[in-house]
Amino acid sequence: MTLVSQRLASIQESPTMKISAMAKRLNANGLDVIDLGLGEPDFDTPKHIVEAGCNSIKAGDTHYAPTAGIPDLRQAIAEKLNAENLLEVTSDDIVVTPGAKMAVFAAIQALIQEGDELVLIGPSWVSYEPCVAFAGGRVIWGKVDENFMPEELAETITTKTKVILINSPSNPTGAVLEKNVLKEVRDLACDHDLAIISDEIYEKIIYGKEHISIGSMAGMEDRTVTINGFSKAYAMTGWRLGYLTGSKEDMKWVSRLLSHSVSQATTFVQKAGIAALHGPQDDMKSMVNEFRARRDMFVSSLRALGIPCSMPEGAFYVFPDVSEFGNGDVFSEMLLRNSLIAATPGSAFGSGGEKYVRLSYATSQLRLNEAINRIGKLLYQVRQKE
Ligand code: PMP
Ligand code: GLU
Repeated sequence: MTLVSQRLASIQESPTMKISAMAKRLNANGLDVIDLGLGEPDFDTPKHIVEAGCNSIKAGDTHYAPTAGIPDLRQAIAEKLNAENLLEVTSDDIVVTPGAKMAVFAAIQALIQEGDELVLIGPSWVSYEPCVAFAGGRVIWGKVDENFMPEELAETITTKTKVILINSPSNPTGAVLEKNVLKEVRDLACDHDLAIISDEIYEKIIYGKEHISIGSMAGMEDRTVTINGFSKAYAMTGWRLGYLTGSKEDMKWVSRLLSHSVSQATTFVQKAGIAALHGPQDDMKSMVNEFRARRDMFVSSLRALGIPCSMPEGAFYVFPDVSEFGNGDVFSEMLLRNSLIAATPGSAFGSGGEKYVRLSYATSQLRLNEAINRIGKLLYQVRQKE
């Protein structure tokens, strides 16, 4: 028997978290599983950030802080958003959250109510749809072309549409939305009076393309909620630190939601966040260079094995088409059973993801080479049987 509410019972466990937990269990049982399932930088948090966090604990920053975040961090974030993202915000417009996931959850709860529709463009990160379901809303899936760019987006808009959520660079496809595409999204939002949620968590992990914040475009100031965080850019997944910004009025409600749920992001973690923003950025740059080298190697190796794979322009995932082997579910099961490789089936990312599998290259080149060898052997066996 379960006493759980219908709303919660409609939600599945996060597939990325589930697959990673399974890989860890198998490894603990002595199997050599290569975990390409979870999207988490394999680098350590830069030393000066760790030191700032430790010093803050030692200095006694172990008490409650303001719900929306400590003033110095909100100021540092506002300055970053002004300078890098051309968003005209002040520290009062920033709400700090325990991880960007909480920012996504809070933004969706704030904007979506029973019966509202939120548009997701093509395969999208696993947590968006459950957050919409929590709010009592519904996701409408926009189509994408072979480069994962939106197609016929206007057809997704109905009288119930409230939000279009964009995520560039994208998890899982690595696609980056260029200015002309963002303008199309902007025009739709303005014509139909919609809000935009822009999840920019992979902003820094981008290869030669320019990241543009849609909130900086004319007419978007008050209808955009911009989300970002420290997990990916500064290898701080376990610290849990993210933030969002939007209109003052909307941020007031988001802050209220936090005040009744998580209260705030951890106080000394916020001090580490200030060090991340104010300190040297070279660790991040070398991380991105390494991700780029891995991406190049991984994509060309998969293509050499005859697996069609688009070239991701950001984030740290490849999203190859594995329809030759049935679909992404079948292939990821084969990968785990035969090759001891954990991967996330494309179906976890919603409509349009079924024929793909997501492989995270946030792991050493040595392990990626080993993964390629194992995949090569698997393909040889499968193709021999045909
Ligand atoms: N958005 C996207 C697209 C992500 O991939 C992640 C990673 N989990 C998040 C938001 C949340 O990041 P975090 O909560 O670790 O800051
Ligand atoms: N964003 C990462 C992923 O998609 C981390 C796991 C999660 O938060 O879902 O794998």
